[in-house]
Amino acid sequence: MRLAQLRFSLHVFGLLAMLIAFSSTVTFAADRPLSNVVVLATGGTIAGAGASSANSATYQAAKVPISKLLEDVPQLGQVANVKGEQVFQVASESFTNDDLMVLAKRVSALSKQSDVDGIVITHGTDTVEETAYFLNLTIHTKKPIVLVASMRPGTAMSADGMLNLYDGVVVAASSSARDRGVMVVLNDNIYSGRDVSKMINISPNAFVSPWGSLGMVVEGKPYWFRLLDKRHTTHSEFDIDHIKTLPEVDIVYGYGNVDGTAIDAFVQKGDKAIIYAGTGNGAVPARLVPVLQKAREQGVQVVRSSHVNLGGFVVRNAEQPDDKYNWVAGHDLNPQKAKILTSVALTKTTNSRDIQRIFWEY
Ligand code: ASP
Repeated sequence: MRLAQLRFSLHVFGLLAMLIAFSSTVTFAADRPLSNVVVLATGGTIAGAGASSANSATYQAAKVPISKLLEDVPQLGQVANVKGEQVFQVASESFTNDDLMVLAKRVSALSKQSDVDGIVITHGTDTVEETAYFLNLTIHTKKPIVLVASMRPGTAMSADGMLNLYDGVVVAASSSARDRGVMVVLNDNIYSGRDVSKMINISPNAFVSPWGSLGMVVEGKPYWFRLLDKRHTTHSEFDIDHIKTLPEVDIVYGYGNVDGTAIDAFVQKGDKAIIYAGTGNGAVPARLVPVLQKAREQGVQVVRSSHVNLGGFVVRNAEQPDDKYNWVAGHDLNPQKAKILTSVALTKTTNSRDIQRIFWEY
């Protein structure tokens, strides 16, 4: 081929490529109008600020308003029509049951609006696993609800919040994310809010689900690998619109030499249930068995959970005769998730066999 011919062919090829690219952009815009996503901000490190860019661990959480968080990621405009709303400005370790209720009611109301396709919640990493599970149990919608957080404040080098927020909006805007339960998106992964947990407290790969992630977000596209088999959202018997208050439930940590002081104190405080965060398979020391039995006789539910981090799976009637004592086995839920589920379950039943059924199903 002569040089002139080659140049001409390349020119034609370039024009054709431009035409294809242009027409595919036009088709994209015509076939897929952007989804409407509301971002509810609650604070956390994703809204944090430190004194210098080297401060990845020393900073103040819950400082930056939602308007600024959204401004900092202009790429969001290519993914969805995004509106921000500041619900709280707190570090998530300060979350209370009242905060959970306020947030859940707002999420429920938004999910019923025809002009909302998906919801993102910015949150602190410390208790995002509790909030996500609570919403997963109590919000009746198939629309994607996604919690995002970050391990480094936006002022730090290699901050992770912008990408996590972008990925969260990508998932919330995608029809492929419908009816998968409430999700937590962090560090490229899409986790189920049911079982994801913060396992590392210093690096961006802080979150793990013992059963693996549901999928990943790569360059603005969600890829799915698993489905959650447990009941959630529209498949749940619990509905935030019918919950007025959350019964008090506390956690007692199990370790060598532990005594019954904390259990007695929680019973006296008026708790409706105690999660015993036992060692191993939810084991309870012999000296605590009568203390927990007494609590149960006084009407307090006893749930045996495990503080083994990855895969604390509690088997009913294995370490303790749960049938005989009328206790509940916490299944695979870590103590903080067992606390959320027990509290939600108690809004409907005080029968320990029914609470056990709920632990198997959710
Ligand atoms: N303590 C912070 C919080 O949970 C930590 C974080 O967001 O990473 O709000």
